[in-house]
Amino acid sequence: MTDLTRMTAAETAATIAAGEASATEVAQAHLDRIGAVDEKVHAFLHVDTEGALRAARAVDDRRARGEELGPLAGVPLALKDIFTTEGVPTTVGSKILEGWIPSYDATLTRRLKDAGVVILGKTNMDEFAMGSSTENSAYGPTGNPWDLTRIPGGSGGGSSAALASFQAPLAIGTDTGGSIRQPASVTGTVGVKPTYGGVSRYGMVAFSSSLDQGGPCARTVLDAALLHEAIAGHDPLDSTSIDAPVPPVVEAARNGDVRGMRIGVVKEFAGEGYQAGVMTRFNEAVELLRELGADVVEVSCPSFSYALAAYYLIAPSECSSNLARFDAMRYGMRVGDDGTHSAEEVTALTRAAGFGAEVKRRVMLGTYALSSGYYDAYYGSAQKVRTLITRDFERVFGGVDVLVSPTTPTTAFPIGERADDPMAMYLADLCTIPTNLAGNAAMSLPCGLAPEDGLPVGLQIIAPAMADDRLYRVGAAVEAAFTARWGHPILEEAPTL
Ligand code: GLN
Repeated sequence: MTDLTRMTAAETAATIAAGEASATEVAQAHLDRIGAVDEKVHAFLHVDTEGALRAARAVDDRRARGEELGPLAGVPLALKDIFTTEGVPTTVGSKILEGWIPSYDATLTRRLKDAGVVILGKTNMDEFAMGSSTENSAYGPTGNPWDLTRIPGGSGGGSSAALASFQAPLAIGTDTGGSIRQPASVTGTVGVKPTYGGVSRYGMVAFSSSLDQGGPCARTVLDAALLHEAIAGHDPLDSTSIDAPVPPVVEAARNGDVRGMRIGVVKEFAGEGYQAGVMTRFNEAVELLRELGADVVEVSCPSFSYALAAYYLIAPSECSSNLARFDAMRYGMRVGDDGTHSAEEVTALTRAAGFGAEVKRRVMLGTYALSSGYYDAYYGSAQKVRTLITRDFERVFGGVDVLVSPTTPTTAFPIGERADDPMAMYLADLCTIPTNLAGNAAMSLPCGLAPEDGLPVGLQIIAPAMADDRLYRVGAAVEAAFTARWGHPILEEAPTL
């Protein structure tokens, strides 16, 4: 039989539906793969063997009863440890939530279960999703399957590494400033940040509520679309959830075509700091889009230059408020509760012990930016920049259907290289952040390997809000053309673990 861990999600579901393999066999093959390689990769913080096999058996039972199975029934998935899972630990990569077992499922978790998706476990991440390398996890770093001494991106590095090492065909990420797209870019996988409000945030631990967005991660554009459709749609439990039909992402992914589309290349996403090989592959992708029949033009979004600065005021401000709930009284860790300390002291001792350095840095920055007297100068100004960025998008989307850029300025950097330099770390999200600030949609998909280091390069496609289907239409066309050119999917180039 073909190796069950090498199939796409769409192939896996078809194999199960046809009875060529059971969902239990598929789950077991992935659990075995995790057992064989995850000691090296460290993609998972928690593997839910029992839960996965139970979910797989339920799919097999439904099939035996002749019930119709959904498009992802029996397909294994790696879930970022930021979504609550009833009865299964949820740490958000932080010591402060170590040992916490949620009593409820996030809406996204529930939808996955309802779709018959088999959740294998929870994946490693930067603490509270703050980071671009997964080195900020309280539980140790994750390795990039292309080179285990390099970062798999962040904050969702566990999810991207699980995909690239064939431990799961599907994964979930969250993207506040790039944490789905940047990990996808540096691991040769596909990641989509849906339109803000497109996927429910209920039960997704909040970092920066006006920016956070859960979304699909996969090895192919079609798989990402199938997962997108399963998790998206209105949720009355999330007041920012969009009450409108989900854009037709699966149909778009099945009909990749860029003929007649107008595509804008963002002028500002190039120049100093961009690795030569990244630009080589990106420029080839632009050429390919032309060959495929798109009308490619250069566009300028001058406000994007201020996006990073605005983001690093808005995100810390919101996190300083969101993380106030970790007060030692409600969840997880409690330090100093020995009768000699006041409640306030217990809160302070717990936060001092439970939060890592990056989380503390952001809580302090955010508290300062929001303090009276500074609010207008910092937070208020950042919100004005946010409006300018949104206007830049609106203006260029008047003339083009989608925008393209490199997803990240460089390929995967070595673990440790930027760990003590927050600014260098923040630069990894230069091209992804404007989309979060404006609330529209974007995808990263592989566009080859950088000649100088042989590591994956990501192509970012950006669409207007609620036009997520355009990402898939363009992405599927690019993926098909590149796969034909390379003769195989890019991940076949990755060294075997
Ligand atoms: N790297 C960015 C940050 O550190 C984005 C993180 C994210 O998208 N969750 O905030």
